[in-house]
Amino acid sequence: MSTVQNPTPNPFNQQRPIEGIKHIIAVGAGKGGVGKSTVSTNLALALAQLGKKVGLLDADIYGPSVPKMMGTAKLQPNVNADRRIEPMIGHGIKIMSMGNLVDDQSAIIWRGPMLFKAMDQFLRDVIWGELDYLIVDLPPGTGDVQLSLAQKVPLSGAVVVSTPQDTALADVKRCIDMFKRVKTPILGVIENMSKYVCSHCRHEEDLFVPGELHQFLDKEKIPLLGKIPFNRSIGQGSESGTPQVGLDPQSAESAAIMGVARKLVELSP
Ligand code: ADP
Repeated sequence: MSTVQNPTPNPFNQQRPIEGIKHIIAVGAGKGGVGKSTVSTNLALALAQLGKKVGLLDADIYGPSVPKMMGTAKLQPNVNADRRIEPMIGHGIKIMSMGNLVDDQSAIIWRGPMLFKAMDQFLRDVIWGELDYLIVDLPPGTGDVQLSLAQKVPLSGAVVVSTPQDTALADVKRCIDMFKRVKTPILGVIENMSKYVCSHCRHEEDLFVPGELHQFLDKEKIPLLGKIPFNRSIGQGSESGTPQVGLDPQSAESAAIMGVARKLVELSP
């Protein structure tokens, strides 16, 4: 007698597009502190400067820094009569972040199912409207939020942010492997803090010992979307609530970020 086995359900069958949003692009990093949120916020402004309608979802549930970087930290979202959430607006970008729902001193201690629910609400219950790009700033590493996002919505692709040294490379590899496993196309890698640029004399110097990131990307045929220098004004932008691209659009640093945004538009038109 033969038994019929239920096939394992494919989690990606749950994927549903969000009406009105053309491209959802995830920004990930193998670990924290490499500048993922700085890059996400600047990219959002850069895409808007290219005439695109942009939303920014801060999916870094445990450590949301988008509100501070976008100058929206003091805002709280309105919930309308249909219990849908109006996103905050900063620099013309529609923004949603856990940081606007909890005070900045409370620890967020959530497990998988709660994270899944929060991601669902951020994606489905926020009134995103018509967007060309929804940039999703992921938490660092390879965890439940990344998995949940990939299962819930079709992603146009993922961008991985890294610093140049070899101690970051193993984390980049893990991050890329995760996106491959959840069948998200890798649009490319952004090297952040690639050089230190002195704000007085523009002297350039390696901030980190350069490693084998570029060789790895060549070998894997993954595009390097751009190199963003380490510059005090980029950090200043994040602290002040106006990212560099808004603070000083004519600077070399903003030009580097605009270059990445143009490549993303080419890859996901
Ligand atoms: P992550 O999201 O990867 O944890 P953040 O974007 O929060 O990293 O950046 C960590 C710190 O480094 C922040 O204080 C930020 O202002 C600073 N930073 C990031 N990228 C740069 C850069 N290219 N130049 C100067 N400071 C930077």
